[in-house]
Amino acid sequence: MKNYICPKCNGYLSIDNEIIFLTKNNKGGSAIVLLSAELGDYSFRKNDSVDFKSGDHVNFICPICYENLNAEEYDEKNLAKIYMVDNNGKKSDIVFSKVLGEKCTYTIHEDGIEAHGDHKDAYIDKF
Ligand SMILES: [Zn+2]
Repeated sequence: MKNYICPKCNGYLSIDNEIIFLTKNNKGGSAIVLLSAELGDYSFRKNDSVDFKSGDHVNFICPICYENLNAEEYDEKNLAKIYMVDNNGKKSDIVFSKVLGEKCTYTIHEDGIEAHGDHKDAYIDKF
């Protein structure tokens, strides 16, 4: 079982195969979002009443410490970051796009970078 962890408070963000975030889009909408914990799977769940659209800029916020999860060290605007700890206790940075519909995830660890998703070339030069 992989665990996903907040880089600000070290709280556990995942339950089984989903990662839980507080989110707000750039139009004032807000929702709890459950993202698939499977790297390269961009499915997510939210309340049907929340109208998030492709291209929305979404802020991801830790539901435990309420800190913004922006990955400022890589991109000031469009990327967010959490930690992943795998079965062997190995820790990686997981960086993903905050723009709804942009499918790109980067796993960053001491051995290098793995990029996932249809839009993985979009930010690869940031690392
Ligand atoms: Zn936190």
